[in-house]
Amino acid sequence: MALAIEGGLWHGRNAMGRVKLHIPGPVEVSEKTLQAFRSPMIGHRSKEFQQLYGSIQPKLQELLYTRRPVFLSTSSAWGVMEGAVRNLVAKRVLNCMCGAFSDKWHDVSKRCGKEAEPLQFPWGSPIRGEAIDKQLATGKFDALTYVHNETSTGVMSPIRELAEVKRKYPDVMFIVDTVSSMTATKLEFDALGIDVMLASCQKALAMPPGFALFVCSEAALAKAASVPDRGFYFDFLEFQKHAEKNMTPSTPSIGHIYALKSKLEDIFQEGLEARFARHEKLARMTREWAAGHGFTLYPEPGFESVTLTCVNNGAKPGGREIDVPRFVQLLKARGFLINAGYGKIKGKTFRISNMGDETEETMKTLFAAMDEALKEL
Ligand SMILES: *Cc1c(COP(=O)(O)O)cnc(C)c1O
Repeated sequence: MALAIEGGLWHGRNAMGRVKLHIPGPVEVSEKTLQAFRSPMIGHRSKEFQQLYGSIQPKLQELLYTRRPVFLSTSSAWGVMEGAVRNLVAKRVLNCMCGAFSDKWHDVSKRCGKEAEPLQFPWGSPIRGEAIDKQLATGKFDALTYVHNETSTGVMSPIRELAEVKRKYPDVMFIVDTVSSMTATKLEFDALGIDVMLASCQKALAMPPGFALFVCSEAALAKAASVPDRGFYFDFLEFQKHAEKNMTPSTPSIGHIYALKSKLEDIFQEGLEARFARHEKLARMTREWAAGHGFTLYPEPGFESVTLTCVNNGAKPGGREIDVPRFVQLLKARGFLINAGYGKIKGKTFRISNMGDETEETMKTLFAAMDEALKEL
């Protein structure tokens, strides 16, 4: 990223001279990833493709702590999310909700024609295991949806608590959205015992949007085999059948697979533990910036996300309040884009992402621009 100070103002521009993205997805894509993305095309039923597909599987499995195949979907995350509902819900699904994305799962479940019940937690609070346990104990449900990192509120729910509950209900399908946390924090798919873990690639993976990754338990595939009307494009059994040949069910975005291969090199060069620690550190720095400027945070203390910070601006009592749209505008004039809040807390919060390739240095550059923008309000 090239930086210049003009007239005392910070101008953060990426390599192409555009405004740098610090919104919670899509995020900034590196030149190396973009180069890989524009690799020459190959046939998706060729040996070369099978080699490409096969070459990234071991790294993907290491990244997600699983022995299961990691499926590649040419869609955003919602495609796989809808697919999971269509593949795995036969009786009734429990939608665990605590923000815009987890709330939306309820709507999506109903639109797929499934019986669905909400389990609502307040926005800003995490999803808790005890309440889920109580619901599942009724025996009414054969699946649940859960968002690990609720991007609209900046809340990261305690996923180990969920894994504890899963142990009691082996036959209930646990569908987990890790869209904005996958690869930024340790998510051990096999050890968690959950049934589906999915994410799109424009968030923590910092790739161009339009592609998603997911893993299914063996139990999930067995369940899918018993559920009618799975459709075709997101039929999990099709993904499994083709994965056995190192292929995807239909023509994939091959550029994304090259980009993913390149990104995996970067991730393992940094090291997984270092990557997780970096995200934690950068999120902590962002929270400290907020506190240092008189703001409070929107998430319940102790459940703040490691990939984005949702700053309170009147959505909850306490802390400073500013004109968020103007703040975002002033920041944009300095070459940085943050988000002015999502859904019903738009304007009453603002969100700053530290996903992807950000470093202490790039975050400090952003903070300097935010300092300047605040002074100008
Ligand atoms: C961004 C996001 C989604 C939607 O992902 P798409 O790739 O746009 O389909 C779903 N859930 C969470 C938690 C998200 O952050």
